[in-house]
Amino acid sequence: MKKSLLMLALSSVFAASAVSASTANEDPYVAGFEAYAKELGSYSVTLEESVETYAKDVSQTEKKAGYIGKVLPIPQAQEVTDGVYTVVGSMIWHNPANFGLNNNLSFIVFENGVFVFNAGANPALAYSLHQQIKQVTNKPVKWVAVENNQGHAYLGASYWVDVGVRNLYSSSMANQQFNDAFDFIKDEWGTRVSKALTNSARNVSDKFTTFDGEMQVDVGGGEVVILKDFGPGHTPASTSMYIPSRKVLLTGDLGFNERMPVFFNYTDSFAWEGSYKNMMENIPADTFVIPGHGTPADMATIKRQTYDYLVYLHQAVQKVVDAGGNGEEAEQVDQSMYKDRPVFDQAAKNNARHVYNEITGGDF
Ligand SMILES: [Zn+2]
Repeated sequence: MKKSLLMLALSSVFAASAVSASTANEDPYVAGFEAYAKELGSYSVTLEESVETYAKDVSQTEKKAGYIGKVLPIPQAQEVTDGVYTVVGSMIWHNPANFGLNNNLSFIVFENGVFVFNAGANPALAYSLHQQIKQVTNKPVKWVAVENNQGHAYLGASYWVDVGVRNLYSSSMANQQFNDAFDFIKDEWGTRVSKALTNSARNVSDKFTTFDGEMQVDVGGGEVVILKDFGPGHTPASTSMYIPSRKVLLTGDLGFNERMPVFFNYTDSFAWEGSYKNMMENIPADTFVIPGHGTPADMATIKRQTYDYLVYLHQAVQKVVDAGGNGEEAEQVDQSMYKDRPVFDQAAKNNARHVYNEITGGDF
């Protein structure tokens, strides 16, 4: 009896060690440490020194590779029109489950290379997008542009720099804002999404080519990409990308589909209405649209989902103000026709209060 119990205990110890040995071999980090420890066996170094050296090795390797880790299980890129692809991000807030992919990451295949729009919320996402690009084409990524200064537009940029992209574009105001707030933005996205995925992001704002108003990029094959800031809105500076030869417009955060437009304290919702109008006046009506948030659609759909909402909300809240109503009453304006849109509960009342404060000059 005693003997068989001991046998049982021993066999489970062996089973456990067999399991841990095989998991250890599957993990490249652990395997790397094991190999490194063996290599160092013949030298007389302290454990502390060897770990420090290994950590330095890893960060140098990471800088060369852009990112070391697994491909994240993000949605498959969809082809919107000839050679134009987008990965539609989650319609809700950035969180660990969506890896910070809650905006759209797009890429366009041109004769001389690939143009990426939005760097992604962290190097892991940028790397994962890159693997999808490689499935579509063997042309190199040559250009990257970001829609604004937000973490999900910008934080993955160091990955693209590390893998050799030399042409990065941002409006100058967004680039300045990202540079000024880098530590804060990285910390916020790391905390909300994942430190492990975000930690290797570096501030590469000095690598960007910046522009005011409009800039054209020659992408070969007689095609040009037009980068344009139609004016402030969701963010103070916003970059849209228009490719006349493909009849496609990437609005950045001027355009929302499905997901409710969201107002932050830095959002100028009245300027947004004007900037959107400016965009419509400059882009042909039969253009495909990839919005900043939500699925691709035509110009009429994105107008209805963004511009028409802004116009409606502005008029509804103005009526409350004209009647001498207060902020609470402004929050009660009827937005029920939008109730099925993602993040309605988080956005609707807040948006109405925001507009009320914009009109009355109140605090945000
Ligand atoms: Zn955004």
